[in-house]
Amino acid sequence: MIQGAWTQNMQTTINSTTLSLIKGDIIHEETDTIVNAANSRLAGGGGVDGAIHRAGGPKIMEECRRIGGCPTGSAVITSGGNLKAKYVIHTVGPIYQDGKHDEAKLLANAYKNSLALAVKKGIKTISFPSISTGAYGYPINEAAESALKTVMDFIKTNKGLSLVRFVLFSDRDFEVYKKTLAMLTA
Ligand code: ADP
Repeated sequence: MIQGAWTQNMQTTINSTTLSLIKGDIIHEETDTIVNAANSRLAGGGGVDGAIHRAGGPKIMEECRRIGGCPTGSAVITSGGNLKAKYVIHTVGPIYQDGKHDEAKLLANAYKNSLALAVKKGIKTISFPSISTGAYGYPINEAAESALKTVMDFIKTNKGLSLVRFVLFSDRDFEVYKKTLAMLTA
């Protein structure tokens, strides 16, 4: 079968870390940790958050309740419950208003703090969804550029992670991330 370019995964290596883009459902990832696009009360919700709690079972929510909350741009960690991933890092992206409410900085912080927490925990492999681009309304093109630039800057200066993967849920998001990564690595 001839496959269109849109079906193909994409990856690049920076220092000793592979940065990879795939299309899929993050709950199936076997990386050491997956990242959840959570809300600041860690209360569970729709989108990727709902999918992670459904698949991971009640243990993750019990741990979230104990932690209590997470400010926008920060990250906290729980076990992975019934998921294949051993951990879930819960980060909170910004709700997009008009681009003038520190959204770019807060989105970059969500990625940076998730990566830093992973390194601190000795985690080697991590999968991200596209944070803030669902219910939180962040424009996908700008979010993809910020997400990829932030991860690339981090892995240029930090050792420890062998794989950072973005798991994009729709064909369109996958295409946007691939085009953006091609532009950033050209
Ligand atoms: P936010 O509130 O941060 O916008 P959402 O969960 O609403 O979070 O959406 C973030 C992104 O996650 C969206 O691009 C959405 O399509 C995607 N998404 C939803 N479910 C999954 C899943 N199971 N795996 C990976 N990505 C998902």
